[in-house]
Amino acid sequence: MLADQDRIFTNLYGWESYSLDAAKKRGDWDNTKTLVKKGREWIIDEMKKSGLRGRGGAGFPTGLKWSFMPKEVGERPHYLVINADESEPGTCKDREIMRNDPHKLIEGALLAGFAMQAHHAYIYVRGEFVSEASNLVKAIEEAREAGLLGKNAAKSGWDFDITLHRGAGAYICGEETALLESLEGKKGQPRNKPPFPAMAGLYACPTTINNVETIAVVPEILRRGGDWFSSFGKDEKNTGTKLFCISGHVNNPCVVEEEMGIPMKELIDKHAGGVRGGWDNLKAVIPGGSSCPILPKDVCDTVLMDFDSLREVQSGLGTAGLIVMDQSTDVIYAIARLSHFYMHESCGQCTPCREGTGWLWRVMTRLVKGDAEIDEIDTLLEVTKEIEGHTICAHGDASAWPIQGLMRHFRPEVEARIVAYKKEQAKAA
Ligand code: SF4
Repeated sequence: MLADQDRIFTNLYGWESYSLDAAKKRGDWDNTKTLVKKGREWIIDEMKKSGLRGRGGAGFPTGLKWSFMPKEVGERPHYLVINADESEPGTCKDREIMRNDPHKLIEGALLAGFAMQAHHAYIYVRGEFVSEASNLVKAIEEAREAGLLGKNAAKSGWDFDITLHRGAGAYICGEETALLESLEGKKGQPRNKPPFPAMAGLYACPTTINNVETIAVVPEILRRGGDWFSSFGKDEKNTGTKLFCISGHVNNPCVVEEEMGIPMKELIDKHAGGVRGGWDNLKAVIPGGSSCPILPKDVCDTVLMDFDSLREVQSGLGTAGLIVMDQSTDVIYAIARLSHFYMHESCGQCTPCREGTGWLWRVMTRLVKGDAEIDEIDTLLEVTKEIEGHTICAHGDASAWPIQGLMRHFRPEVEARIVAYKKEQAKAA
């Protein structure tokens, strides 16, 4: 279990105030200017050393991503955009940072902005996050009044400010290019890539988009060193500490910071009070937010919570949002509900996603009752393959994976329901 002195988020539960004074007592804004004075190459090198991979779901190495920004600022300004649109079902970590520890995010934005030569950052906050946005606005104002933002921010010699923008709650605006469109005042629809945002992002200017947690851990990494951060974790590709969100059929749903690569069972038992009715009552876990394929108990018994371990079992760490399901769960219904979500949130630009997600949901709805033929399962899987990888953004994949996971591990249950339904119908006739 991670020792308290190794935790980055020391006010995750809001036991102390989120104000600037309280944040400073916890160590935030401690000599920020010294970190800036070490130069942008040093910052990017430390981030590379830390092995930090993006905490928004994709897991792309952060230092490398920053290094894609043009080395020199040309006619177009550079921008940092922070994705605070956290909407993936099962995920509830960024909101805790914004509500209870916003100064970590603001200080991180200054350091990241300086590293990529951006004088301005935009934080795109999900519309439903009222108290999160309000606390963040207050924290930004406090930082401005204290000279930590604005001209010569934190006496670093770098001018830097932040604009907070509230979205209207569309899930797809969490996709980075849809977010940029929405930020520009347009319909939130993903862009075709290339060009990638580092070349042409916000207002066609070089832009890096990072998740809230990714940016909020930057100051601590730079203060304690990239090597300190990478000393945690399973291996050099899965380093550091990470916020895990545990929801569903556990005794104590929570968000907790733990070491990357912690066994799933240990995470659930130690921090979430265990599965309702005991570990043997576990049926399945969605390990990384709704789009990651579901895993049955026998895999959960031993799997580690990191990017590569979860990929090896054909799922993913995603946002590290665990949805725990005990034996009372109707997994077919649970996945059908997710299919409805992905259908509802499709932006409609690509035919496979627009038409396919609705088709998947309709078939899944029949499977919940068992009102289908057994060979329709293969047709359903074939359609998921036709959607996966054939769309502008990853929303298509996200709609396909939950169903693929269901059939990989729970096909006998789906087939049994079809058989039972047929028997019932025959009896009734
Ligand atoms: Fe829109 Fe779906 Fe295409 Fe993404 S995959 S751009 S959500 S239609």
